[in-house]
Amino acid sequence: MTIDLRSDTVTKPSKGMLDAMMQAQVGDDVYKEDPTVNVLEERIATMFEKEKALFFPTGSMANQAAIKLHTNPGDQVICDKYAHIYNYEGGGASFNSGVSCKLIDGNGGMFTADQVLKAINPPDFYHSPLTSLVEIENTTNKGGGACWDFNEIKKIREVCDEHKLGFHLDGARLWHALVAKKETPKQYGEVFDTISVCLSKGLGCPIGSVLIGDETIMSNAIRIRKIFGGGMRQVGYLAAAGLYALDNNIERLKEDHKKAKEIGEILSKLSMVKTVEPIETNIVIFELNQDVDEINFMQKLANKNIKIIGMGGGKLRMVTHLDYTDDMHNNLLNIVQKINI
Ligand SMILES: *Cc1c(COP(=O)(O)O)cnc(C)c1O
Repeated sequence: MTIDLRSDTVTKPSKGMLDAMMQAQVGDDVYKEDPTVNVLEERIATMFEKEKALFFPTGSMANQAAIKLHTNPGDQVICDKYAHIYNYEGGGASFNSGVSCKLIDGNGGMFTADQVLKAINPPDFYHSPLTSLVEIENTTNKGGGACWDFNEIKKIREVCDEHKLGFHLDGARLWHALVAKKETPKQYGEVFDTISVCLSKGLGCPIGSVLIGDETIMSNAIRIRKIFGGGMRQVGYLAAAGLYALDNNIERLKEDHKKAKEIGEILSKLSMVKTVEPIETNIVIFELNQDVDEINFMQKLANKNIKIIGMGGGKLRMVTHLDYTDDMHNNLLNIVQKINI
């Protein structure tokens, strides 16, 4: 039995999800004639109380489309130094939209409204790039699954209003934040111009993300998606997985969070572990003592069929998910407890 904790993207569709997919009504979504995609998009738009939602093959493409919608070439996007759009989307912001990123030196991937204010270039000083968008991530990926304080988000919204900036949320794991903090999609819909959510992370779908926003900003989204090569045909089979996931796989994220906390507790008791970052959701990031070789540590786990991932800078990551069972969890806790190097 392999225990794969490299990411929550390693899940495979369950029997129930596969059945829902097989029974999907489909049509050509480029003509907007796929009934299942239409239902999914409407359902997600309604959840967030926004006018429009659009299905995308990946979260990266949804984020990249959002950046394109909010900016012109030469503009600047304010985001955290850990941001997925900056670190993990292949340089897409500059490639697709011709924008640069002004990185904020935040805390766990999060920052304050005050830091945003200081990062805005004065629009009348034509030497510097024009700031046009603020982007945040909830939960933060490289920041260890941390959840934002919603009050800070509201303050950033005010700064965006004052300075006429767009506000985009990379909500690849927003579902985790909603469950952990008992928040609602509606409150996020109220403060952001655009939101991307992933169906293929914690929710266990094989593929799929959705970009959400009001008509004005979203009216060009379908064209951008087409330009990016993301116009899909009988994609209702995948949208059906999304609908199934919304019905069945959100509340259970609590279990992933509980397991992650339990892993963190065991790790923090190991003498070879230097620090475990605070765990709020399903991501565990930890660092080994300097005299412990991380490659060796990962190999020891690999020998027991446990896969984890390095995040660079001496940090290691484990992510709990739908396919990480109670049995695997007990097994893992046992093995980690006894590990010696
Ligand atoms: C996974 C992820 C995405 C999207 O990734 P894709 O693999 O392109 O679907 C975007 N943002 C964050 C924070 C992520 O963790």
